[in-house]
Amino acid sequence: MSEKSLFTDIKQELTAQERNPEDIKKIEQAFLFAERLHSGQYRVSEEPYIVHPVEVAKILVNLKADTHTIIAAFLHDILEDTDTKPEEIEQLFGKDVLSLVQGVTKLGKLQFKSKEERQAENFRRLFIAMANDIRVIFLKLADRLHNMRTLNFMAAPKQQKIARETLDIFAPLANRLGMGKIKAELEDLSLRYLEPDKYFEIAQLVSQTKAEREMTVQLLIDKISKDVKKSGINAQITGRAKHYYSIYSKMKRLNIAFHDLYDITAVRVIVDTEKECYEVLGLIHSQFKPIPGRFKDYIAMPKGNMYQSLHTSVIGPRSKPLEVQIRTWEMHEVAEYGVAAHWRYKEKGSQKADNPSDMQFSWMRKMAEYDKDVTSAEDYVNSVKLDLFSDQVFAFTPNGDVFDLPVNATPVDFAYRIHSEVGNKTVGALINGRIAQLDTKLNNGDIVEILTSKTPAPRLDWLNFVVTKQASSKIKQWFKKNNRESHLETGKANLEHELTKAVFDEYVKQGEFEKVAKQMNYQSADDLFAALGYGETTINKIINKLKKPQAKSPESSFHTSNRKKSEKDIVGLEGLMYSFARCCSPIPGEPIVGVVTRSKGVSVHRIDCKTLENVQPERLLDIHWSGMNVNKTYSTTIRIETGEKMGLLKDIIAAVSDNNININYANVKSKNNKIGIIELGMELDNVETLKKVINCVQAIPDVYSVKRIQTSYAPHQNNQRQNNKNYHKNNNSKQQKKRN
Ligand code: MN
Repeated sequence: MSEKSLFTDIKQELTAQERNPEDIKKIEQAFLFAERLHSGQYRVSEEPYIVHPVEVAKILVNLKADTHTIIAAFLHDILEDTDTKPEEIEQLFGKDVLSLVQGVTKLGKLQFKSKEERQAENFRRLFIAMANDIRVIFLKLADRLHNMRTLNFMAAPKQQKIARETLDIFAPLANRLGMGKIKAELEDLSLRYLEPDKYFEIAQLVSQTKAEREMTVQLLIDKISKDVKKSGINAQITGRAKHYYSIYSKMKRLNIAFHDLYDITAVRVIVDTEKECYEVLGLIHSQFKPIPGRFKDYIAMPKGNMYQSLHTSVIGPRSKPLEVQIRTWEMHEVAEYGVAAHWRYKEKGSQKADNPSDMQFSWMRKMAEYDKDVTSAEDYVNSVKLDLFSDQVFAFTPNGDVFDLPVNATPVDFAYRIHSEVGNKTVGALINGRIAQLDTKLNNGDIVEILTSKTPAPRLDWLNFVVTKQASSKIKQWFKKNNRESHLETGKANLEHELTKAVFDEYVKQGEFEKVAKQMNYQSADDLFAALGYGETTINKIINKLKKPQAKSPESSFHTSNRKKSEKDIVGLEGLMYSFARCCSPIPGEPIVGVVTRSKGVSVHRIDCKTLENVQPERLLDIHWSGMNVNKTYSTTIRIETGEKMGLLKDIIAAVSDNNININYANVKSKNNKIGIIELGMELDNVETLKKVINCVQAIPDVYSVKRIQTSYAPHQNNQRQNNKNYHKNNNSKQQKKRN
């Protein structure tokens, strides 16, 4: 082969692609320049070195890469392997080409050692390079592909190392970019060196079954082609074995032999329009029985790497199970070339490379952000493994931005993916317009709206369900920054104060706090104390869950003995065990009454609670709020009636959380499809705060009414209620204020 002919093929292809003759000239100039510089250099295969850049350029020409990328392909090894100065490249080919060459040179220097520390560093640089210019990654993948194609000339240990690295890093990368063709070739080549026995076994079996496969496909074509033609559909139907590595991993995953794999053949039907995809699917299903559970509509719900197709498995001709993929030509391009297909469709004459800020590339920017956020190398590797190379869920913002998240990701992961500020301020989430628990697992295609408060207040228990490294490290970081230690001490001190030191220590000794922590979804007692310290949970909640000590007399029970010593929120209950009635959930500032119960001490009700109507007067106790600031919060629920208006719930939740109130429950209903009913459970300190919240919510347009619930104001006043009123005639909030 003469040296001149090395460029001939490329020139022909470029001409066939109707490239600008000026550009072709420029590319040829790059070839000649590289040829001159590499002359006298040889590859391990003993071929002239220039063969390598030429082959890399060919791969990129076939991807229809832009002119600068192809030029850079010819020049990609000259900074490293020749004495050429960067300035020279810039002068001859411009700044853009130089930066591509420098980018790929930088990546070439990465040593992918097995040690996690090194690996992390390299991952990082790799992805940062990617975020800067996707074309550098195309160059790197083309470079790697040609090196893999010629790997047999390398020494065995080097083959292993390069193949492992290709399988671990470059094939997943190609997959992530949707470049199915390059991914499959990289995987197959890697397998050949990593598991040669398996590789050659599969290759042999695939070739042995080729005739059979072709016959099956022919039978399928015979059976459906008449119908397809009748429908006026122009379809290309082909059948081929899946690539070796996918057969290998399936055998390995299912632990079965080649002959037990029923779907090594993929029948591919390519048509002109999306509508025809579904028509062909119908035709196939009418001729061959579909296997349940195997149909996947990646047209309606594309994969994260933009892949689209219909997948189905049917009992094919001669009762052989067969996998069928149906797609349009355009989808086919995307399946084979991924993000590069995007590029391939670009209008002629446009020289600008794909803008990495395109929506599809947003995940790359995120990878770059990791650099700033994650400090330890191990964390980084884990986050890359976890977030990039595992199965994904795609969720959308209401504006249609797509975020890719690992499977089992929750709204909190989603929020942190948007921004750590958003994550830290999350108070609620709407999934597809409905309020959802923050630990809800997201599904593909979910539209997620994050509701935020003004001030950051992440919760430690989020760590129990978030799956992204980004979210968990940000949450931990926040708590670290915000003095977890001091929260922990505060929490402990509050409990010691409430329970007395001796009782507290006894509980610690018995491991009781660990148990309560688990019950309340905290990872440890310390987490529980810290959560109490920064106000995520309350003393009452914890104490109610603590095992009651074996008490000999009521006086020695922990509630009685310690309450005497601690700050009391209610006057009139000294020495008594008490709890807040759930029917009316009173909060400080509201007139209250105690009801002596048979087994649970005193139950504290609002004075206008309906349940009091049936209570014998002798069981009522005169009590009132102490008015002391005991740093507690109380649960209450409001009911809001609204007009049907989108976004209203969000406004309401925002209004509530802007008052620094924790929402612990939300339920949305609608009445006659005209009136929306929202119930919100909140934790707050007193009735003044409640009034403020109610006013804020009331002020929102389209809110008809706001009420406390679980309380009913009896329409008639019976004696008992009169009694109750009398009981509390001296007990109004003004008096309480005076006490303050
Ligand atoms: Mn190279």
